Amino acid sequence: MNADVLIVGGGPAGASLAVGLARRGIDTVVVDRARFPRPKPCAEYLSPEASRVLADMGALARVEQSGAAALSGVRVRAPNGLVIAGDFVARHGFKAYSDRGLSVRREVLDEILFDCARTAGARAVEGLRIAELVRDKTNRVTGARTADGEIRAKFTVGADGLRSVVARRLGLAKTMRWPRRLALVTHYSGVGDVGEQGEMHVERDGYVGIADVGHGATTVALVVPASRAKEFAGDRGAFLDRWLAARPHLAGRFAKAERVSPVVATGPFGAYSRRAWARGAALVGDAADFFDPFTGEGIYAAMRGGELLADALDAGLRSRDDSMAALRGYDRARRQEFGGKWIVERVIGAVVSWPPLINRAARRLSARKDLADLLIGVTGNFVPASEVVRWSYVWKVFVG
Ligand SMILES: Cc1cc2nc3c(=O)[nH]c(=O)nc-3n(C[C@H](O)[C@H](O)[C@H](O)COP(=O)(O)OP(=O)(O)OC[C@H]3O[C@@H](n4cnc5c(N)ncnc54)[C@H](O)[C@@H]3O)c2cc1C
Repeated sequence: MNADVLIVGGGPAGASLAVGLARRGIDTVVVDRARFPRPKPCAEYLSPEASRVLADMGALARVEQSGAAALSGVRVRAPNGLVIAGDFVARHGFKAYSDRGLSVRREVLDEILFDCARTAGARAVEGLRIAELVRDKTNRVTGARTADGEIRAKFTVGADGLRSVVARRLGLAKTMRWPRRLALVTHYSGVGDVGEQGEMHVERDGYVGIADVGHGATTVALVVPASRAKEFAGDRGAFLDRWLAARPHLAGRFAKAERVSPVVATGPFGAYSRRAWARGAALVGDAADFFDPFTGEGIYAAMRGGELLADALDAGLRSRDDSMAALRGYDRARRQEFGGKWIVERVIGAVVSWPPLINRAARRLSARKDLADLLIGVTGNFVPASEVVRWSYVWKVFVG
C-alpha cells in the first residue's frame, strides 16, 4: 500500500489529522491496531472548545445525539474540603464555542471520529498494528512495517498514543520522572448526586474524577502515585471500592452504586518528545506529549494538534525543496498553541501533588468565583493561558 501520508493510530489525534488531510485531497491511510468500538481508559470529559473541532470534523451532532452528557463547569474539592467551582459561562468576557463541555464514553466518541476520517476520504484500516518504521539510505522515514508487509508514504505520523511505537523508533520519546502516577478507570451506575459539573476530588494520596457520561452511567477515574501499584495488583475493583469507601464525602454517594464496566489500569503518564518531527515523520496527540489527566485536556489537544499538523503536512507535500521547513513550522505552531497550557498543566500538577498548596489555593478560589471561572476557562481551552500565567493572578490565589 502506498500513500502520501500514513497515520499510525486512529484515536482523536489520528482521526482529526486524517479528516484535515483527506479533505484537502491528500491520499491518506490511517491504521489502528484496534477495531472500533474499542475502550480507552479516560475520564471522558471534553472541554467546551473541543466542540468546535468536533463540529469541523462533522462529528458534533453525532456525539450529542449519542446521549453524551452536557457539563456546565468543573468542581474541584481540595483535601481540606473546600470546593473550587468554575462555570464555562462566566463574566470574564471570554466565550467558548459552546456553553457546555461534553462527557461521552470513548467507545462511542472514538468510533464516530474514526468514521469521520473514512467519510472524509481517508483509507481507514482497523486491526492493523505497526511494528517498525521503514527508512531510505539517507535515514529518512519512508513508511512503516506491519506483520504482513509495508506501507510506503511520503510522511509517516505517530498518532499512536502515550506509549507511541513511532516516537520510540524515531528516538524522540522522553519520559518524565515526576509525577509518576497510575490510574484506575471504570463506570458505575447508581452514583448519588451526580450533577452537571465535572468533579475532581483531590486527596492526600491521589485524586478522583467523577462525571455523568450519559445513559445513567458515571465515569470514575482514580489517579494515585505509581508507588501504590502493588496494592491493586491483585484486585483493582476492591482497591477502588476501598479508596472510595474511605472518603466520607464519597462513600454515601457510592453506597448503592454498581460497577458496569471492568476496572482498567493505565499509566504512568508523563511522556513528551524532544521535538514532534523527524525527516519524513511527525508526532501528534499523546505520542507528542502528555502530562497528567488532571486538567482533562488531552482529547482537545490531540484533535487540535491534528489540525495543526494537517496544515504543516499540506505545506510539506507542496514544497519541492524543503519539506522540513513545514515540520519545523509545526513545532513552532505547537509551542504557540500549547505553550501557555503546558505551563498551567505543570503548575496544576505540582499544586495537586502538594496538599498544603492546593488547600491554600482552595481557600482563595472557593471565595473568589471570578478567579475560579478564569482558571476553568483556561483548562476549557477558551480563555488564554496568559490570563492565569501572570504574577497578579498567582499572587491573588496564593498570597493576597
Ligand atoms: C486516566 C486518564 C484520564 C483521562 N481523562 C481525560 C479527560 O477527561 N479528558 C481529556 O480530554 N483527556 C483525558 N485523558 C487524555 C486522553 O485520553 C488522551 O490525551 C487522548 O486519548 C489522546 O488521543 P490520541 O489520539 O493522541 O491517543 P489515543 O487516544 O491513545 O489513540 C491512539 C490510537 O493508536 C492506536 N495504536 C497504538 N499503537 C499502535 C500501533 N503500533 N499500530 C497501530 N495503531 C496503534 C491505539 O489503538 C489507539 O486507538 C485521560 C488520560 C488518562 C490516562
